[in-house]
This record gives sequence, C-alpha cells and structure tokens, in this order.
Amino acid sequence: MSDETPLSAEILRRAPKVLLHDHLDGGLRPGTVAELADAVGYRDLPTGDPAELGRWFRAAADSGSLVSYLETFAHTCAVMQTEEALVRVAAEAVEDLAADGVAYAELRYAPELFVERDLSLDAVVEAVQAGFAEGTQRVVAAGGRIRVATILCAMRQHARAMEIAELAVRHRDAGVAGFDIAGPEDGFPPSRNLDAFEFLRRNNAHFTIHAGEAFGLPSIHEAIQFCGAERLGHGVRIAEDITTGPDGEVHLGRLASYVRDRRIPLEICPTSNVQTGTVPSLSEHPIGLLARLRFRVTVNTDNRLMSGCTMTSEFAALAGAFGFGLDDLRWFTINAMKSAFLDFDARLALIEKVIKPGYAALG
Ligand SMILES: [Zn+2]
Repeated sequence: MSDETPLSAEILRRAPKVLLHDHLDGGLRPGTVAELADAVGYRDLPTGDPAELGRWFRAAADSGSLVSYLETFAHTCAVMQTEEALVRVAAEAVEDLAADGVAYAELRYAPELFVERDLSLDAVVEAVQAGFAEGTQRVVAAGGRIRVATILCAMRQHARAMEIAELAVRHRDAGVAGFDIAGPEDGFPPSRNLDAFEFLRRNNAHFTIHAGEAFGLPSIHEAIQFCGAERLGHGVRIAEDITTGPDGEVHLGRLASYVRDRRIPLEICPTSNVQTGTVPSLSEHPIGLLARLRFRVTVNTDNRLMSGCTMTSEFAALAGAFGFGLDDLRWFTINAMKSAFLDFDARLALIEKVIKPGYAALG
C-alpha cells in the first residue's frame, strides 16, 4: 500500500515478526508427530510418512468446519502425553519460530489435554517451560534471537477454567504470561467461566479469550464486557458490527466502536479463518477493512501444522491479497508488540531495539 520495496519471501522472513496467537499442539513438525507416535505406541495416525502426514493435516483442517478442524488435534495431543514429548515439541516450536524471523511469540496450549497418562497439570507446565528454555538456548547458540512467553488455555467444553486460571497465576514468574479459553465457541459462552476471569482480575493477571470466530457479536460482547478480556482471540466477526453505506460511508456499531476506541487487540489468524469457514476466502477477509479503520489488528498463525503456514507465509498472503507493504507489516508487528502480555519495559525495548531497526534495515 505504502512503499515500493518488493516483498520477496526472504525480506518477509527477515522482517522481525511478533506472534500472539499460536497453539503449541497445532504447530508440531509432521516428522515429530510421526516419531513421537512411534515412541509412545500411538497407532491411529492416518500415515507414518512425514510429508504425507503434513498434507493430511492441512486437508483435514480445510474441511470448512471448526469442529472437524479441532478433530485434527486428537492426533497431536495423543503424542504429547509425556515430559520428553512436551520438551521436544516446545523446543522445536521456538526453533521454528526463530527461523521464521519471529522476535517475540506467545505460545498457548491447554495443560488439561496432556494429563492422559501420568503427568500432573504442574508437571505439564514445567515440561513445556523447560522446552521453551531449551529451544531459546539453541536459537541463541546458533546466533539467533527470540523471546517467548506462555499462555495457558482452558477448554470451553470442560469445566476446569478456574483450576487452569490458578495454574497460570502459580507459574507466572516462570514464564506464563496469561490465560485464554479455547475450544468450541458455539454453545459455550465465555461468561460460563466468569469465576476464573474474576480470579485473574483480582490477581492482576492477563487474559485473552477466543471470541468472534465461530460465533459472532454476542460472544465478543461477553468476552469484553462480562469477562474483561484484554484481547480477542480472532475477534474477526467484529466486522459484523460495521456497515458500509451505498456511498462508501462506513458506520461502526457501539460494540465495534468500543473495541476500536479502547484499542482492544484483535488476534487475527487469516488462513485459519478461511480453513474453518469463518470467512469465505482470504481476499474477502475483513482484515483489510479493520486495518483501514485502524483497529488494533495483529497477524497470527493459529495452527502452523494444520494451516501449513508460517508468519512469513501469512504476511506474504496478506501482501498479495490486500497490497500491504512493509510499512503495514511493521504496523501489524508494533501493534502486536504493544499488545503483548509482557511488561511495558520489555515491550518498549523490543519495539525500539529489535522491530524498528529490523524494518529500517530492510527498507
Ligand atoms: Zn486459536
């Protein structure tokens, strides 16, 4: 939109990126899924061949329904039930993100999905944190840099939100930066977990809520006005509260105005939204409108394995569909860094010392 630097894949990869919405159990390397399945004796994978498995995950996730999209997670979660597996998956996620040019990432997962064998919730968190530390060390040893933080999710269809909120607060000095609720949105409104959100607020803890993906404005309204979410996981359906008149004049409803006025970050995951049928195609994705209206838009991968995407490929796809230039991508990145669940000094340092110089070096 605003500059003339040709956006090669290499420039997009080198551009510093900030990722706020990425599921650990949605980002495994296909080869790791196959190897871990062998190691734990899991026999239900559709194929043991890594390349075929990668294609299978993308195709299964392409079905156009959030429910079948979520079914692909049965396989990844099945192979993440041991300490060794969690350490490995976490360490590899950090390496993969660093290789993709991600300077800061918040990775999220639901600890309650990894206690099918003998791990406790606390042991799950400790294993993942150990993996993140190991991955970060490997990146630094190879001359790279990345910082990661953790968001713990509770699953909406289970009734453990309070327990997971307590877990998040218990581990906040060990790298857990926030809390989220994930899983099927329709039929499980965020206000069902009000006690957990009240607990978090009383403890000055940060949280985001998956809202405005499979379900529309009422879910966004509850997440913000009943639960007190600081950010919206997806939030893309806030566009339903925006109308464009015949003369091109744009009108924001009260909820959309509130979200924009309060600078509530939208964790937008473009490819994932197309896969789950939330939007019909990338070119029809409301991110163009929301960015033009200066909502606090951030760009995210959601599930790199199921979507076969990276931050670089999301940026490339958006640049292609909407004509975004490096200035726009820098804006998304600074938006994300401002919205991170990291202390203010650390956010500022990453913006001033990593993101701005990183983009200046590309231009
Ligand atoms: Zn998500």
